[in-house]
Amino acid sequence: MPELYSEILLDHYHLPRNKGELPGETLSVEGANPLCGDEITLHLKFEGDVLLNVTFTGKGCAISLASSSMLTEILMGKTITEIQEWIERFKEFIREGKAPDGVDLGDLAALAGIAKLPVRVKCATLPWSTMKEAISRYKGT
Ligand code: ZN
Repeated sequence: MPELYSEILLDHYHLPRNKGELPGETLSVEGANPLCGDEITLHLKFEGDVLLNVTFTGKGCAISLASSSMLTEILMGKTITEIQEWIERFKEFIREGKAPDGVDLGDLAALAGIAKLPVRVKCATLPWSTMKEAISRYKGT
């Protein structure tokens, strides 16, 4: 399915943005998708309700790694409220296969084909559900 493995997706896979440890992180959260073998850890540095920095480590398929790379680019510098909005937007996008009205998804649009491949949906959503878990843990501290 060449449409799925678009150039943008492969670019994020081969040249992942913000991949690596994050010295001085506030917390890190692991997420796993055993169906595919994806294991992603998000490393987050918060100041108040602003996500100052986010990186990821781990291994997985092209889709989970590209989705993680895109997540770090989009959510860096955002507030917790904005991050929660993005998580909901992303879920809707993956379910519907198109951007919610009036939303520019940027590079994420490259994942549109995933909606047609239920077996890969968990790969694409893994970093986003891990982020959701990270937010609830951070708020609980
Ligand atoms: Zn996967």
